[in-house]
Amino acid sequence: MSIQTASDFTFERWQAVAEKALKKPETRLFIGGDYVDAIDGQRFDTVNPANLEAIATMSAANAKDVDAAVASARKAFRSGVWSRMAPRHRMEIMYRFTKLIDEHAEQLAVLDTLNMGKPISDVLQIDIPSVIQTIQFMAEYIDKIEGAVTNTESDVMHYVLREPIGVVGAISPWNYPMLMATWKFAPALSAGNTVVLKPAEQAPLSCLRLAELFTEAGGPAGVLNVVNGIGEVAGKALALHSDVDKITFTGSTEVGKLLLQYSGQSNMKRVSLECGGKSPQLFMADVADLDRAVASAYDGVYANMGEVCNAGSRLLVQKKIHDEFVERFIAEGKDAYVPGDPLDPETNLGPLVTSEAQQRVLSFIESGKEEGAELKFGGDIPGGMTGAYVNPTLFTKVNNSMRIAREEIFGPVASVIPFDTIDEAISIANDTIYGLAAGVWTQDLSQAHRLVKEIDAGIIWVNSFDEGDMTQPFGGYKQSGNARDNCIESLLSYTQSKSAWIRLN
Ligand code: NAD
Repeated sequence: MSIQTASDFTFERWQAVAEKALKKPETRLFIGGDYVDAIDGQRFDTVNPANLEAIATMSAANAKDVDAAVASARKAFRSGVWSRMAPRHRMEIMYRFTKLIDEHAEQLAVLDTLNMGKPISDVLQIDIPSVIQTIQFMAEYIDKIEGAVTNTESDVMHYVLREPIGVVGAISPWNYPMLMATWKFAPALSAGNTVVLKPAEQAPLSCLRLAELFTEAGGPAGVLNVVNGIGEVAGKALALHSDVDKITFTGSTEVGKLLLQYSGQSNMKRVSLECGGKSPQLFMADVADLDRAVASAYDGVYANMGEVCNAGSRLLVQKKIHDEFVERFIAEGKDAYVPGDPLDPETNLGPLVTSEAQQRVLSFIESGKEEGAELKFGGDIPGGMTGAYVNPTLFTKVNNSMRIAREEIFGPVASVIPFDTIDEAISIANDTIYGLAAGVWTQDLSQAHRLVKEIDAGIIWVNSFDEGDMTQPFGGYKQSGNARDNCIESLLSYTQSKSAWIRLN
């Protein structure tokens, strides 16, 4: 069923779809165009966080399976079956792939909802359309990747080719299971590389199906492989593998740092990192539309259960408007996100990804209380729910040295930090190891430009938050990473230049 048709499904219909999907989900690895069991037969459970029941027992790749997947990707790369395919033909396969994703939207959506608790409406309205857009955007550039002929001495012809890098290892997180994986494999494949994808162990089901659909669309065997598995085993083996030419990663800063080490310990492969964040939103007293700003504040930290790398979790509010801001936030934001069954199309707040994540978020909330922040609402588990739920939470009287202001919570927890002057706001905004994104709310053009220049972040939204399109480079400053997703810069980062210097006489 297409996205459009599935968008009309009722809760009961989704429950029936889920029941069917759980009867026999695909749990094996996808290597060389086929499903295969893990060589040593190891397995791990993947759990539905909405009811804490195991939904599938997945094959768990170890170093041997990763080796097989890399060998398959290398063979496909060397054969030229993909990298030397006529660009138009490669584009056709990618477009057919997007068509199949749309046709299978119902099945893909239910897998992510069951696997990580994301509300089904979000998967249909955000994740799947963005997956399709990403593949389309990258595919549109396949026959537009250009080299150069340089202006040099007359007896020499010098040209520069842009070639694919080779075998790309992609390691992705669970918060947007399909989309974060697509941000990696779509540009890598479009540039002519072959890929071994290691999806997050919390939500691997949909990525397996994506790889199968790529093959159904005409993608040659071995070009896109998927190795489910535990990060410290399968992910580590991939990142240490000496026949992998590049690792592209989205996940925590902690694991990002390990990947840099693995590269140094193996073959100095390139490492592109999209890591964590602790994004500030700055609300200056002259904000034009306080209601819109407040809505953007709670959407920016409660959407996707707060499990968003660029979540605006630090709300820096100028003292002149502080009380009014907090009052409106409580009036409008407290009940804007209501916990419910993520299969219900009316639900906009599902459970957190696991019980461990729930406990982690609750412990941050405890630390906020202990360190003297004022809990305005939430901070607890919603009554009557068995899953890994946490209510939307608001703290005021936060200062930037508290743990809730310094560490990435990855849950629906907002912290209001008051400030007096713009200098103070800039200093608080930049007082973090992260630099992924920021929001700025002001009517004053000079003030807006100054904030854009002085905040250390890869993305700054002015009078908006968390919007954009495929042309927008997505990535961070500082320990939020060193890569950019989505834009042309991303596509080119999966190519390397080759210089041909030809003496003519
Ligand atoms: P994570 O770092 O725990 O895991 C990410 C991936 O790395 C998973 O596939 C995991 O299995 C793998 N992994 C774990 N240990 C590994 C190891 N030793 N070697 C190799 N691979 C290993 O992150 P997560 O919990 O899945 O995702 C949440 C994090 O992702 C947050 O920090 C969030 O900010 C970040 N994130 C960043 C962006 C961005 O674009 N900057 C987007 C989404 C999420």
